Amino acid sequence: MRKPLIAGNWKMYKDHREAVQLVAALWDLVGSIEGVEVAVCPPFTSIPDISRLIEERSMKLGLGAQDVFYEKEGAYTGEISIPMLKALNVDRVIVGHSERRQILGEDDEMVSRKLRAVLDGGLQAILCCGETLEEREAGGAFAKVQGQLDLDLEGLPASDAGRLVVAYEPIWAIGTGVNATPEDAQEMISFIRERLSQRWGEEVAQVIRILYGGSVKPDNAASLLSMPDIDGALVGGASLKAADFAEIVRAAAI
Ligand code: PEP
Repeated sequence: MRKPLIAGNWKMYKDHREAVQLVAALWDLVGSIEGVEVAVCPPFTSIPDISRLIEERSMKLGLGAQDVFYEKEGAYTGEISIPMLKALNVDRVIVGHSERRQILGEDDEMVSRKLRAVLDGGLQAILCCGETLEEREAGGAFAKVQGQLDLDLEGLPASDAGRLVVAYEPIWAIGTGVNATPEDAQEMISFIRERLSQRWGEEVAQVIRILYGGSVKPDNAASLLSMPDIDGALVGGASLKAADFAEIVRAAAI
């Protein structure tokens, strides 16, 4: 009943020419796959060209940004607003990726403001959460994720939840080649659903898609995606290779 979502987070890879080639190659492989929502989240500089390609070739491909600022316009040097993204047919934004939290210093207050702005703007928000290795080893993984959700979702009405996607991304699994086991990912994702249910009720929690992210590859995608609460994947490294990303999309369609 929840349509699987496979979203590619390209991070700071590919210039706009390479990006168009990658999307064209990807679409050749996934264009005929049914029953899965597929999206790419390239760097800002590639969004205009990809947006044009999607329109020209009538691709049913979601186009996401990796970040956005919460104000509509103003003296915010270097920032990009939601109306600017919407003018380019961007339909979703990743919010609170651990690389932005850890490297760029985004705290939960910033994440919460961005999340609210994205949802208010009518876009899909992919909210990332997850623990470090130290936190997991100390038995604090659930408390960390619970704390992030409580702060990031603070004050959000249930009416916005339809556009919310949560991505559980254990930080120790991102870009390391070491994925969470399907059982561990399922355990955390079912815990997240329970938290969402406490916040907005069971009916709302059952329709929110919760993704797993962290070294998802063609060879582990099927086992992760077979778990009952895992509704798709946020894919970093493997989304930069059309064949690998397409295989992950295919695994979600089964
Ligand atoms: C990510 O960037 O969100 C991610 C999960 O990366 P990777 O798939 O490379 O671990």
